[in-house]
Amino acid sequence: MLLRGQRFRLWLHRTVEGRIKSGNFSQDARGRWYCNLVCEVPRSQRRGRDDIGIDLGLKSVAKCSDGTELEQARFYRDLEPKLAEAQRKRRKRQVKSIHAKSANRRKDVLHKFSRALVDRARKITVGDVSASAMTKTRMAKSVLDAGWSMLRGMLRYKCDHAGVAYAEVNEANTTRTCSSCGCLSGPTGLIGLSVRRWTCSECGAEHDRDQNAARNIARLGCETPCPSGHESPGF
Ligand SMILES: [Zn+2]
Repeated sequence: MLLRGQRFRLWLHRTVEGRIKSGNFSQDARGRWYCNLVCEVPRSQRRGRDDIGIDLGLKSVAKCSDGTELEQARFYRDLEPKLAEAQRKRRKRQVKSIHAKSANRRKDVLHKFSRALVDRARKITVGDVSASAMTKTRMAKSVLDAGWSMLRGMLRYKCDHAGVAYAEVNEANTTRTCSSCGCLSGPTGLIGLSVRRWTCSECGAEHDRDQNAARNIARLGCETPCPSGHESPGF
C-alpha cells in the first residue's frame, strides 16, 4: 500500500469490500499496528422479519427475545486466572498481552453475534442499562461496559447499513413486567436478582428472566419512533 509516498506492507485480516475512501493506522496495547480502511459499500436492501429485543446483562452479555444469547464466559473467563497471576508477578508485558487478547476476542465474538442478529431483523431494540449499577469489581465493570457499548455501536451501524430499524429504550420495569399479560408480577429487589426463572401469578406464564425482559424491550421498541428515520414497521 502507498501512503503519502511511503510504501507499507500489510497483512490482510479481512477482505476489503467496496471502494476505499480513506484510512488510518492505530496501535493496540501490545504495540501492534493496524490499518483501518473506510470503504464505500452499496446499502443492502435485504431485511429480515423479526422484531428483536435485547436484554444486556451479567450472566449473558446479551439475551434476545427469541432466546438466542451471548455468554459472558466466552470473552475472558478463561483468561482471568492467567491475568491474576501475571499481575501478582508484576509481568507487565504479559498483562498487556492478555488484555489485548481478551479485547480482540470480544470484538470478534461481538461482530459475529451482531451480524447474525441484523441479518434476520426488521427492528432491533436494546435496553439502556449501565454496568455501574450492576457490579462491584472494577475489572468486571470495565469489561461489561466495553462489551455493551461495543455491541450497541456495532448494532447501530450494521442496522443503519442494512436498513434495519434500531432503538434504545429505558429498561426500567422490563424485568418485573410479565411479557404475556403486562402485570408487574416478576422478581424485584436484591433477592429478585438471583431468580432466573419465574411464573406470573396473574396469567400463569412461565418466564426465563432475561428473555422476558428482552421481550418487553422488543415491545417498547415497537412503540418508540425511530430517530434514524426508518419508518416504523407497521405498528
Ligand atoms: Zn402474566
